Amino acid sequence: MVKKKGANNDGMLFDILSETLTEDHITIIERLSKPRQDEELAEELNLKATIVRTLLNDLHAKSLVEYDRTKNKRTGWYTYVWRVREEKLREYVRNYLENKLSQLTGGMDQETGMATFNCLCGRVSFEAAFDNNFLCPKCNKKLEEFSNKKEVAQIKTEIARINSLLGK
Ligand SMILES: [Zn+2]
Repeated sequence: MVKKKGANNDGMLFDILSETLTEDHITIIERLSKPRQDEELAEELNLKATIVRTLLNDLHAKSLVEYDRTKNKRTGWYTYVWRVREEKLREYVRNYLENKLSQLTGGMDQETGMATFNCLCGRVSFEAAFDNNFLCPKCNKKLEEFSNKKEVAQIKTEIARINSLLGK
């Protein structure tokens, strides 16, 4: 069952996952809405079993899926039945968003504390500009005032989006 993106909470979950996992990994997660064998998945998705197993192993390394292994007494072969760890998946998304949020907050502090002067050589903090009579410390040309309102607004929008995703 492929869930429609954005249609419900799970759709939102998959949207966020698409920022951090590949499309193939997400397809696997979607297909594991009920427990499945890796061979079944490979057949359904028309992929080589080795590829599906690699994708499953990647997800397993992130603790997002788990499996039960049973031995066929007659053939001696193992069968793996995989399933998604829903709680871990939610935790993974939450951690991803929290990390992103703290990066953005750091970026915001930098934007608001940094300033507002620049030259073709780059941006200059207020302090450095002041100390150098508002001339560029590198090329000595007069520094231009620079508005970072747009950058600040972008970061604010993104912070608001993530806070609402986190239910804050
Ligand atoms: Zn300069």
